[in-house]
Amino acid sequence: MDPALTFRFDNTYARELPGLYVRGQPVPVASPHLLFLNHQLAGELGLDVAALGRAEGAAVFAGNAVPAGAEPLAQAYAGHQFGRYSPQLGDGRALLLGEVIDRSGRRRDMALKGSGPTPFSRGGDGRAATGPMLREALIGEAMHALGIPTTRALAVAATGEPVYREQALPGAVLTRVAASHLRVGTFQFFSADDDTGSLRLLAEYTIARHDPDLIGEPDRYLGLLRKVAERQAALMALWMNVGFIHGVMNTDNMTISGETIDYGPCAFVEAYDPQAVFSSIDRGGRYAFGNQPLIARWNIARLAEALLPLIAEDRSEPAMDKAVAQATEVVDVFPELYRAALLAGHRAKLGLRRATRDDDATDSVLAEDWLALLHQHGVDFTLAWRRLADAAQHDDDRLRALFDDPQAPDAWLARWRARCALEDAGADLGEERAAGMRRVNPWVIPRNHLVEEALDAASAADDMRPFDRLLAAVRMPYQESQEQARYAEPAPASVTARYRTF
Ligand code: AMP
Ligand code: MG
Ligand code: MG
Repeated sequence: MDPALTFRFDNTYARELPGLYVRGQPVPVASPHLLFLNHQLAGELGLDVAALGRAEGAAVFAGNAVPAGAEPLAQAYAGHQFGRYSPQLGDGRALLLGEVIDRSGRRRDMALKGSGPTPFSRGGDGRAATGPMLREALIGEAMHALGIPTTRALAVAATGEPVYREQALPGAVLTRVAASHLRVGTFQFFSADDDTGSLRLLAEYTIARHDPDLIGEPDRYLGLLRKVAERQAALMALWMNVGFIHGVMNTDNMTISGETIDYGPCAFVEAYDPQAVFSSIDRGGRYAFGNQPLIARWNIARLAEALLPLIAEDRSEPAMDKAVAQATEVVDVFPELYRAALLAGHRAKLGLRRATRDDDATDSVLAEDWLALLHQHGVDFTLAWRRLADAAQHDDDRLRALFDDPQAPDAWLARWRARCALEDAGADLGEERAAGMRRVNPWVIPRNHLVEEALDAASAADDMRPFDRLLAAVRMPYQESQEQARYAEPAPASVTARYRTF
């Protein structure tokens, strides 16, 4: 192999967690061909972008060549899917190649998705179609640019082979980079078996990898639960504040690291609506936009259950009772963690800087009333926030134009101005406030109809240009420009009403 194509693997998962995975090899494909290569991320990982772009890079990213030092393995995990427990899921179409240390010293998983069947495939083909893999790459980059923790795609390689879903589709393999692939479901897998030895091994590994300040602490397992709850509460606030709907928040799709993972049926809200659901498989609306913080808490409760055998000092009844009480406390505090993170986000989006506890209730109500107003009038979530920055500069008309009744926001705007004035001490800080708001309220998000358009062109017509253009736009979400205006426009309501993800 090209010596420039060297990944410096250091595979702790393979080395330290025997019994928690099954080794396997990617299944070679007919004709590998790169559709997407993430230059930025390759740079972070210290990889040679030029070498990755050559045929040998495509061979690696399609699974035809296993790079030196990789130890491909399928991870075991369980999970609650739509509330129902599956004791065995695991990597059915993915393989962890190994871990690389990036240029800032962070350990990153590198995994293939769509690389062929594994012992966890449960009758599935182990493969992936081009559209969903490009969607994962695109949305991951968008989320990253929006400052939201996420797994990212290093590459998407076409396989030159069809995959059969409802119809034949072009196949692809995605290379995913993640802080780790540890999930709530990983803990559930080893807890359900009453295999406390493996569970402890897993927890110690996780602590060393994600929460090293807990190493050796007497109450470290409870501490781990708390850390995951904090990270997920923060993540939910970030999702809610950009209108991201994950769509399939099963416990196997919730990371321990706090990164967003598994961009299957995800979508963004257009007109603000807490009940928005786009996923065709989410018939009951369990994973509706506004439910996400509640589901995150439910998932944290499942993690708490899985960790109980470790949190308890022994199996005596008093020890178990104490562990239950301690874990319950963490689960119960989750809504507060979430609300605090959400409020901090709302303050920034509203252009408010002062965050004294005294204002908490008032500011929460101000933000809630704003959202209620958007909901009531079916206003585009992203544009409304963005144009509030114009209002900070005394131009209300662009915002008012989003409402069916242009006077609808006036009363709320007066309250918001009064609140802003409290911290401006008589000065006109409008320009400064607007600039700050434009740094946190995106102008471009990956709008559903544009994502579909880009994926359709790529898979139906082999045309990557719409994808590349959209990718460039979502990578600069805060920058307003005339040429990119198309990417900031809402979809026609008729399109959004019909929009379904799979
Ligand atoms: P997901 O809903 O994408 O999180 O996947 C849930 C489970 O189904 C995981 O265990 C996946 O590995 C498995 N899975 C999804 N698609 C396939 C496939 N085409 N072949 C085999 N396993 C799959
Ligand atoms: Mg998954
Ligand atoms: Mg998936």
